Amino acid sequence: MMERFLQWVFPDVCLGCGSRGTLLCTQCLAGAPEYKAESPNVGACRVYIRYEYVNTIRVALLLLKYCGKRRIAHVLADALVPMLLHRYVAVLALPAAPQRIRQRGYDQAVLLAQAVAQKLHVTYCAGLVRTRNTTAQAHLTRSQRAANVAGAFQWDGVVPQGRVLLVDDICTTGATLREATRILHGVGFSDIDVAVVARGKTNASRSK
Ligand SMILES: [Zn+2]
Repeated sequence: MMERFLQWVFPDVCLGCGSRGTLLCTQCLAGAPEYKAESPNVGACRVYIRYEYVNTIRVALLLLKYCGKRRIAHVLADALVPMLLHRYVAVLALPAAPQRIRQRGYDQAVLLAQAVAQKLHVTYCAGLVRTRNTTAQAHLTRSQRAANVAGAFQWDGVVPQGRVLLVDDICTTGATLREATRILHGVGFSDIDVAVVARGKTNASRSK
């Protein structure tokens, strides 16, 4: 009820073109640069990446992450779901650092994962937890990145039987996803696919 009232007073406006009625319209989504390059190496996992981390998609992810625009998660989940080739028993999120979740009051990767799970009609499975804060990865060397995320995750719960989907908002080098899936495989997960909204540029690829 309240939601409807707010929609009436403050209708959604597309963050790309300003058209009314949606947070991100289908035309702006269709015009967003698709990610076509090679996926980062995340062990044996199949990795789906939808967009380049630029322009409208970058703004959408920043609003989702920092500005409490939680409903953008549903628009972006709608963009991820058609890419997926398998069926899953559960959807997981690559969790943000505990300190970040406390600061913002929510975890954008969890919002995305929950939205994807809802659209796939499967369970969202909490259980992957980040045990410590890690620093930003983009400015580190490959070995520094691996050391930075080593041991940063643990699994706390029952391991679902079957293929799962791990969802994140942005990836750059893939080091964090590699470490998370390494931990999951270690506790008995068999097949893990990874879905990411956008890929950011690393320092190495910027300087090329
Ligand atoms: Zn638009």
